[in-house]
Amino acid sequence: MTLPPNVYDAEPIPAAAKAEIERLLQSGDLFRYTAPENAPVSLLEREFADFMGVKYALAVSSCSAALFLSLKALGLPRGARVLIPAFTFAAVPSSIVHADCVPVLCEVAENYRIDLKDFEAKLDDTISAIIISHMRGHTSDMDAIMELANARGIPVIEDAAHSLGTVWDGNKVGTIGQIGCFSFQSYKLLNSGEGGIMITDDADALARAVIMSGAYEHNWKKHIARSPEDEAELEAAFARWQNKLPLYNLRLSNLSAAIVRPQIAEVARRVADGRRNHDYVATKLNISPWIDVPSKLDKEERAPDSIQFNLVGMAEDEIRAFQDAAAARGVKVQVFGMSTDNARAFWNWQFIEEKQELPQTREMLMKACDTRLPARLQQPELDLIADALVRAAQDVMGNTRAYGT
Ligand SMILES: *Cc1c(COP(=O)(O)O)cnc(C)c1O
Repeated sequence: MTLPPNVYDAEPIPAAAKAEIERLLQSGDLFRYTAPENAPVSLLEREFADFMGVKYALAVSSCSAALFLSLKALGLPRGARVLIPAFTFAAVPSSIVHADCVPVLCEVAENYRIDLKDFEAKLDDTISAIIISHMRGHTSDMDAIMELANARGIPVIEDAAHSLGTVWDGNKVGTIGQIGCFSFQSYKLLNSGEGGIMITDDADALARAVIMSGAYEHNWKKHIARSPEDEAELEAAFARWQNKLPLYNLRLSNLSAAIVRPQIAEVARRVADGRRNHDYVATKLNISPWIDVPSKLDKEERAPDSIQFNLVGMAEDEIRAFQDAAAARGVKVQVFGMSTDNARAFWNWQFIEEKQELPQTREMLMKACDTRLPARLQQPELDLIADALVRAAQDVMGNTRAYGT
């Protein structure tokens, strides 16, 4: 019999990391700026930028740090208003508050993507920057978003923490806005426990972020450029910003870089497996009259490691009963808006001074379920999860839905 799988553990770290970690342990060379050149963090930055097809990358201590540095790199003044989707992780509005800016929330639709009408309405003259958080790897209509942002000259930062491997209309998510940020926290596709990376083609933004991340004095020279032209552009940018910016010291350690580097070669497989698992379970869940897995947008190629679905026609007590029934069958389901102090429910972000009500997003969060679905799961485990969810809905609601009521 297949037991309910552990959906929280990450994959083992590739064995190739071990020799490098051993070397670092022997030499004690853990700080990225000790070695004269080619430190693991600098190599990771070069490899990640090449993998994404961009000029520059800066590895830092978390995706939150990358988002914070992105806002600082844009040189936003104190009090600048930054538009974000109301369905995201608390780290996103936190990075804005940390940068002395003000988060402005816009509505998110039932399919977990940005409501473009509300986005356009809120994108007024008071907005100085946008963070598009691709929450749980769901991509909003980036064509429409970039068109609206570009028309007003407003920079877009992509929070692609959970979107590595996701593609929008042939473009890698994270390369569409001016700056893209990714996470290496253990629930994400690349895992070093903690860590993050920002990517950009903008030499000035990169130079500012590198200095503020803690490249004091001339440590910026240890970053590896893609070409002599890029290097010349970067040097000019660093010359403009030398000694002009505060240091926040949000660097990544060599040990973390050594753990991430060999995983880049695993991304394509993890993406393919994650997508296969997600689509397999989605098809099974959609058979239930009580469950709806919203479909992806046409231009989106996903890289999921979890599945989100909406409960249909259930009252609040029935939703709670569904969660209990699923748990009794061995599958833990989180309804974003129902668990106490959930960090993805905007009403819990009480550190935002300006109180904002988003009725549409609230309604979605009260019926949207979240179940982890790691790429390493195999079909019997996927069957168990899907069957448990379908049967849990049946336990509570019965077999058929009275349409039209
Ligand atoms: C994980 C995550 C973050 C935060 O990443 P950290 O590296 O833990 O700071 C931000 N946004 C989204 C969408 C995430 O999934």
